[in-house]
Amino acid sequence: MPLRPSVSDDVTALPRGGQNAIGVALGLLGDEWTLLVLRHALSGTRLYGDWMRAMPISHAVLAGRLGRLTQFGLLERVVYSQRPERFEYRLTRRGRGVWPILLGIWSWELTHVERHAEELPRMGHRGHAFEPVLVCGGCAAPVRPRDLVGGFGPSGTWARSMPSATTRRRSAAAPGHQDGFFPQTTALVGNRWSCAMLGAAFQGARRFGDFERHLSAPPVVVADRLRTFAELDVVTASANGGYRLTPKGLAFFPVAVHTMEWAQRWFRSPEGPALAYRHTACGAPFHPRYSCSGCGEQLRGSAVQRLDQ
Ligand SMILES: [Zn+2]
Ligand SMILES: [Zn+2]
Repeated sequence: MPLRPSVSDDVTALPRGGQNAIGVALGLLGDEWTLLVLRHALSGTRLYGDWMRAMPISHAVLAGRLGRLTQFGLLERVVYSQRPERFEYRLTRRGRGVWPILLGIWSWELTHVERHAEELPRMGHRGHAFEPVLVCGGCAAPVRPRDLVGGFGPSGTWARSMPSATTRRRSAAAPGHQDGFFPQTTALVGNRWSCAMLGAAFQGARRFGDFERHLSAPPVVVADRLRTFAELDVVTASANGGYRLTPKGLAFFPVAVHTMEWAQRWFRSPEGPALAYRHTACGAPFHPRYSCSGCGEQLRGSAVQRLDQ
């Protein structure tokens, strides 16, 4: 029995002139605890106590993240026992819809990050090993960043795409190191500045001043994040004094475009999209999909499972 009507199947209307879908999504998902909570939810976790046992997380932080995910319509708090009254958190359609983002993170960590504190789960498509291949939803051809043209749409400005600081800075030990699922991803997108910086890099920001100006970021923050990105081999200094994404950085593209796709599916500004891209080869508006590297079939979340469970 739901405590309140589900908001999950309706698109959330954002205020005119306010933060757009990108800003909302980065503010929500650009948080390492939120990604970890969602990762476990997608593996079937529904009970508060099960998240507590699965992660080195405090009660205050877990309660806060579950509350936000419920507020944003990714989880639904449902009574599953009347006496005593007990709740569980179920993923809504909107919540299940983040699977391509998490799958992209898993694949990137598996391919590009050598060491993990614990082994990454083995994933399979219909029982066979696979990698997700980013393809165009219109023509099914594989897509790389240079195959797309476009940029900001009617609600897209740098200012409106900035995530707001809604979660407090974490002070406990870094879960990325203990959990071992995505240690480098958390350094890349685990907080709002990193997220916005990486987004700006994919949007073409190349120079220190680009990041500073587009994001209205303090220079010390820009310098700190660029140093971290360089240490992770995600960006490299180029000969003309700028920065460019390395092959490892470009390989994070599927995560970025699936995040944008999810954001714009569920959050809409009245002016229109924040970002609009076309696939040059087929001319269609770009909607990302994954195909299976093993059998070529288009991936659906329900057909991707852990192989070792
Ligand atoms: Zn296409
Ligand atoms: Zn397959």
